[in-house]
Order: sequence, then C-alpha cells, then structure tokens
Amino acid sequence: MGRKRMAGAGKGGGRTFFTTLKVRLYPSPEQAALFEKTFGCCRYIWNQMLADQERFYLETGKFFIPTPAKYKTGAPFLKEVDNQALIQEHNKLNQAFRVFFKNPEDFGYPRFKRKKDDKDSFTACNHVFASGPTIYVTKDGLRMTKAGIVRAKFHRRPQAWWKLKRVTVSRTRTGKYYCCILYECQAEEREPLLPAPERTTGLKYSVPHFYVTDSGEMADPPRWMKRSQEKLADIQRSLSRMQPGSRNYQETVQKLRLVHEHIANQRRDFIHKESRRIANAWDAVCMRDDHIEDLAKGVSLGGVLDSGYGMFRECLRYKLERQGKPLILIDRYAPTTRTCSACGFIREPVHYKESSWSCPKCGALHKREVNAAKNIKAQGLTQYFRMEKQRESAQLCG
Ligand SMILES: [Zn+2]
Repeated sequence: MGRKRMAGAGKGGGRTFFTTLKVRLYPSPEQAALFEKTFGCCRYIWNQMLADQERFYLETGKFFIPTPAKYKTGAPFLKEVDNQALIQEHNKLNQAFRVFFKNPEDFGYPRFKRKKDDKDSFTACNHVFASGPTIYVTKDGLRMTKAGIVRAKFHRRPQAWWKLKRVTVSRTRTGKYYCCILYECQAEEREPLLPAPERTTGLKYSVPHFYVTDSGEMADPPRWMKRSQEKLADIQRSLSRMQPGSRNYQETVQKLRLVHEHIANQRRDFIHKESRRIANAWDAVCMRDDHIEDLAKGVSLGGVLDSGYGMFRECLRYKLERQGKPLILIDRYAPTTRTCSACGFIREPVHYKESSWSCPKCGALHKREVNAAKNIKAQGLTQYFRMEKQRESAQLCG
C-alpha cells in the first residue's frame, strides 16, 4: 500500500526537541558519599539564599538572591562539591520566585527545605570546552565533574548527535541512585503522512483492558503486574498487624517501598513499550480527548494501571509526532459508545455497561468497546480531513 505524503507540508529546518534518558547509577562508596554531600550542600545553599533574599527584601524592598560564591568563605565545605550543582540551586530558586510572582495562586511561596521531606537530588549542566565536555557518557558509565566516571546501566543508548544538556542525580528512599540525562535533539524533518483508513487505528480507553482497538485488539496489562499488586496487598495486610516502630515493622516498610518502586517501573516499561509498538505500527491514531483526571478516577475503581492512560497518551503523541504521524483527538463528549458504527444510529443512553448490544435500526451486533473504537476512528478521520481541507483553502486564499 502506497503511503502518501502531504504536498508542500513540512518544509524548512529540523525541529528541536528534548528527550530524557533515565539510568541507574552504581556509585563507589566514595562517589556515593560525594552525592550525599552534594544533596546536603544543595539544601543548605537553597535555605541560605532563601533566608538572605527574605532579609534583603525586608530591609530594602528589592528582590535579590546572592550567588553561591558568596557563601563559600563562611561554609568551606561547599567547595568540596560540584559548583554547577550549587549554581543550579540558584537558578531553581530564581525560577521558583518567578512562577510564584506570576501566578501566586497556583504556585506557593518558595519554602525552606528539610532533609526529612525533601527529595535528595541535584542537577548539573554540561559545559563544552575546547578540551571537551564536562559531562559525558562512556561505554558503561557517566563521567561527571568531581565524581569522575560513575558506573551506569543504560536501557537505551543516546544517539551520537544528541547534545547532553544537563543531568539530575537522585536517590530513592530505598537507597538506589538514578540519573536523568537531558538531551537536546534535532528532529528529522519529515513530511507529514496522510493517514489512510487502513493504516489508522482507533483506541478506546478501557478499564479492564487498558485499551481496545477498532479491530478488537486489547492491551491487557501483563500478568506480572497483577502479581506485584497482590504482593503489595499482602505486605500491607501484614503491616497492619505489626507494632508500629518495631524492627519488623521497619523492615516491612522498606519491603513495601521496594514493591511500590517495582510496580512504578513495570508500569512505565509497559506504557513505553505499548506506545512504541502502536506508534511504529500505524500512520495515525485516533483517541478520545478524555480528561486525564476523569480517566484516573475511572481506573481507581478496579484497574491495574491507575492513571497510566494519561501518560500513555502523551507517550503516544510524541512518539507519533517524531515520525510525522498525527494523534487525532476527537471531542470527549462524542457519543461513541451509543452510536452504531454500521449505520450511524444513535440510541438512548443506558445506565449500565453491557458488553454487547444490537442496533435497533440495522440489527448489527456490537461489542461495546470495539464499536466505540470504530466510531472514534471514523470520527477522527473525518475530523482530520475536514481540517486539512480548511487548511488548504486558507492557503489558497492567503
Ligand atoms: Zn445500526
């Protein structure tokens, strides 16, 4: 089947986008100690700068945050950690005030950080000198300022042309170190694909199956996800029988954290794999423009992938976009489950969710979710081509 590209579209230079690789770090004891020190110094400098900003504001009525360099004589331990991490705290605090001033209702006043409720992390930017970059990836590690080469495990390798912008190192409550590496990339400029019906799929969000397609495919979350969920329930049950504060209790809490972490990883893996598979297999995907919050509500009633669908949609969007393929969202109030995909008849709303129904007008027998996915696809394509026509005529007039 020939795939048509849109004439005249997509000309011009490449688009810049950012992508993040998350890698597990395995620091040596010395490197781990340095990370811990850096977390502490970042918190310290944040609190110092915040306190001085407040004092300065009270005295002069002006907004000013001193730079980290000012604190080094009084606190020489700051010199032991990567200066870039401290500079980033300065930038973050500035940014926190900027968003607060702009939108005080949604963003609170920047707060002091306490070890017990702050996430242990620091961020450092890469600088490229004539002698080379300060941060770079090696065969099985990540080279950083001060720490040197830290052993790292990559699930996906960066492409050679990606530019490393900055890294954020963090420690989970279970004592694992991770690093998020931010890259700037140039997208390969492609002419958008014109979606053909046979190369387009419609996805209906489904509580038990995650999604159902117009051809009846389902993405049942893998079995192990369910097993982890059961394990979680087990641990929670035994925890409720223990004496809070006891040694057993502490150990079980740690076990609980590990399972939580494991489930989060499994969910992320599943979502990335599913969205990659669909984005590669189809030229266009139609979905309903559901509210992410509403989806989360629905799933908490018994689904396994709570709130994962919103992330799935976003993953799908950018994975399609990078291949010049559209994600077509149709109106969230479209009666897709009540419309007969064979004849277009719209029946009255029903208050229970039956798994199948037959059309009173044409007699077609429908599986509820597959029928809805078919309608989503049909409406998505109609909507897409209507907008294309409008775009074309606008171009002709202009
Ligand atoms: Zn019908």
